[in-house]
Amino acid sequence: MEKKPFISLEKANEIIKEIPTPFHIYDEKGIRENARALNKAFSWNKGYKEYFAVKATPNPYLMQILHEEGCGMDCSSYTELELTKACNIMGEDIMFSSNVTPIEDMKLAYDLGAYINLDDYTHVEFVKKIFPEMPKTMCCRYNPGGVFELAGSEDKIQVMDTPGDSKYGMTEEQMEKAFMELKELGVEHFGIHAFLASNTVSNEYYPELAGILFELAVRLHKKTGVHISFINLSGGVGVDYKPEEPKSDIAYIGEGVRKKFEKILVPEGMGDISIFTELGRYMLAPFGALVGTAIHEKHIYKDYIGLDACAANLMRPAMYGSYHHITILGKENEPCDHMYDVTGGLCENNDKFAIDRMLPKVDIGDIVYIHDTGAHGFSMGYNYNGKLRSAEVLYKEDGSFKLIRRAETSKDYFATFDFTEFDL
Ligand SMILES: *Cc1c(COP(=O)(O)O)cnc(C)c1O
Repeated sequence: MEKKPFISLEKANEIIKEIPTPFHIYDEKGIRENARALNKAFSWNKGYKEYFAVKATPNPYLMQILHEEGCGMDCSSYTELELTKACNIMGEDIMFSSNVTPIEDMKLAYDLGAYINLDDYTHVEFVKKIFPEMPKTMCCRYNPGGVFELAGSEDKIQVMDTPGDSKYGMTEEQMEKAFMELKELGVEHFGIHAFLASNTVSNEYYPELAGILFELAVRLHKKTGVHISFINLSGGVGVDYKPEEPKSDIAYIGEGVRKKFEKILVPEGMGDISIFTELGRYMLAPFGALVGTAIHEKHIYKDYIGLDACAANLMRPAMYGSYHHITILGKENEPCDHMYDVTGGLCENNDKFAIDRMLPKVDIGDIVYIHDTGAHGFSMGYNYNGKLRSAEVLYKEDGSFKLIRRAETSKDYFATFDFTEFDL
C-alpha cells in the first residue's frame, strides 16, 4: 500500500520554525485509534491487557497516551521501571520481563507490585533470597527450543526464528519445576510468557504461538495442579515497513487467538485465563517518523543525499539493513526517477538510511520524512561521533504540536565528565 506521511510539508515547516530538524514526530490520533482496534480485537477475553514494551519508545508522554487507552507497561530494567513509576503507572499495570536481572532491578519491580516474569529456573532461588514474601502471582518465560517456522501463502516460509539459539526462557521441564517450587513458596496464580519471533509479517504468528502456549498451559496445569491466570503472547507482531508488504490484520489475529482459546483452554475448564500482550513495534512504529533536512548532495560513483540526521537517530538500517520508506515532503506526487543513497554524517559507511533508493530529485533544504520510526527508533539512539540525540515531538489530535523531549545539547553529552581537573 502507498505510504503517506501523517504531516504535510506545510505542517513540517510550521514545526521546524520552532523545533529544528532532526526530530522524531509521533501521531497521537494514529496511536489512539490503533490501540483501540487492538483492544477491540481481544475484547472477547475478559482480562485482556496490552503491556506496551517500554524499550520500544520510552517517552512518558507516549506512555501516558497508551495508558489512557488501557495499556500497561512492559519493563525490563531499573530505569524503565523508574520511568513507568514516574508516569504513575504501577502494580499490576507493570509486567517485568527481564533477563540477566540485577538484584536492584528485581527488588524495584517487587516494590512496585509488578507482575514478575522469571527468565530462568535459577531465578526461583534468586527471588526467594531477595523477596521478603513471595508475590501471589508469578510468571515464567518459556523457550520451546528448536526452530519456529510458519508457512504463508504458496507455502513460502513467512516467519522463521530459532528459539533454540536464543538466550531467553526455560525448557518445559524447568517450567514445571519452577511452578512446583513457586507453589511451595506460596505463589497461587501463574503466568506463562514466550516470545518466539520478531516483526512477523504473518497474521498466523500470534494464533500459532497461542496454540503452543495454551497446550503448554494445559500440560503444566495437569502436571502441577497450579492455577494459570494469564498467558502473555509478548511482542513480535510486525508492521509493513515496505509499501508492498501487507499490514497486520489485528481483528483477524485476535479472532485467530480466540479460536485456539475456545478449542484448547475452554474444554479444560481453563476459560478464565487472561490474555496479555507486550507489543512494542505494532503499537508505535507506524505512528512515528524521523524528519530531517537534506544538507548536502554529492556525486561520485553513486549519488548521495546527506541529512542532518544520522544512524545515531535511527539505527535500524545500519544495524539490521532494515528498510524504512522515505518521502520527500512536498514532492509526494513527483516521479521517483533519481537513485540515491541517503546518508547521515557518521564516520561509518553503514550510516545509510537507504541504498539505491528511487526518489524524486532531491534539492538541498528538502525535508526528508523517514517512515515508521515510532518504535525501536529514537530509543536505540546513541552518541557515536559525539552526535546528539534529537528532539521528540507529538503531533496532537487537534493538529497542534508539542515538544515532548528536547534535543540533547553538548552539555548533556559532557554531563558525565568532571572537568574540574582541567583548566577549562
Ligand atoms: C522487545 C520485546 C517486546 C516487544 O517486541 P516488539 O517486536 O516491539 O513487539 C516484548 N516483550 C519482550 C520481553 C521484549 O523483549
